[in-house]
Amino acid sequence: MENIDMGGSVPGRYWYRLGDGRVQCDLCPRECKLHEGQRGFCFVRGRENDQIVLATYGRSSGFCLDPIEKKPLNHFLPGSAVLSFGTAGCNLTCKFCQNWDISKARAHDRLQQEASPEAIARAALESGAQSVAFTYNDPVIFLEYAVDVAAACREVGVKTVAVTAGYIGEGARPEFFGAMDAANIDLKGFTDDFYRKLCTASLDDVLETLLYVKHETDTWLEITTLLIPGENDSSQEVGALSEWVVERLGPDVPLHFTAFHPDWRMRDVPPTPASTLKRARDIAQAAGLRYIYTGNIRDEAGQSTYCHACGERVIGRDGYTITSWGLDAEGRCASCGETCAGTFAAGPGTWGARRAPLIVAA
Ligand code: SF4
Repeated sequence: MENIDMGGSVPGRYWYRLGDGRVQCDLCPRECKLHEGQRGFCFVRGRENDQIVLATYGRSSGFCLDPIEKKPLNHFLPGSAVLSFGTAGCNLTCKFCQNWDISKARAHDRLQQEASPEAIARAALESGAQSVAFTYNDPVIFLEYAVDVAAACREVGVKTVAVTAGYIGEGARPEFFGAMDAANIDLKGFTDDFYRKLCTASLDDVLETLLYVKHETDTWLEITTLLIPGENDSSQEVGALSEWVVERLGPDVPLHFTAFHPDWRMRDVPPTPASTLKRARDIAQAAGLRYIYTGNIRDEAGQSTYCHACGERVIGRDGYTITSWGLDAEGRCASCGETCAGTFAAGPGTWGARRAPLIVAA
């Protein structure tokens, strides 16, 4: 635990006082126990004036309009734009982090833009984004800001999306996910050894979050697994993961297998071959999952959506661009009438693959 000035912070939730004078943060399973002036493991929450505070409320690492498919979410308003932002810090230590410049950021100079929840909701509305995504770093650690932004978005009819590792305390889950219309939760591997060795976290806490979101909320859920050569890509592990998703969450939860690119502290591991992602997709399909995708590679077949009943391609994709649409206005297969799981508009969005940085007036 480090002692650092938490300038500009706001009171945080989910903590209590211990008998030995420390305070314990329960926002995530790390349960940091802090003396006055110390910061927690995530570096953006700490103890100041005898309470837990959040240092990144109202501050962002930048805003961008993205395709919703990039989160990735393939069954939530396909083709629409999402206003994406993150803050700084993280409560995991993934050695393969693809956003390490943000998640490992400690200095506030990473946080270039200040924006109120109302300003973010207004910017989404004015730019035509149908949703706001809390992404780039894990929104669990800036819960108070994310929840306020979500409330402001709901006021103006904009949806909200959490992109998260799902490493959140039991007590905080209802507030956090209750504020989100959709979530993409990482299931980073399917062994506790993987979580402990590469993320200093635990698998069970993430599985509990997945079960909670699927069975206790109305939040639309998709899952992402980044396959890393030699670490979590064996057929046995992919099979066990897929079977767990089918049996415990159901066949309708979309699962994205994405390609690793050498980054952060794993630059000596090669990129994931396309064949590994395609093998994983076949395994998950055989396990009974209905919607399985490959990501971070060019693979039209693996990124399109198929009707689970008749096999018709109901949403064609080339990268992040929608190339065909075979759903009716109620989200049913135009060929056989079977419902496709998800949240769909009457037709596809037209945002395409663009990525457009945005300045949000504070
Ligand atoms: S949210 Fe941050 S301070 Fe709280 S327990 Fe997790 S890592 Fe520690």
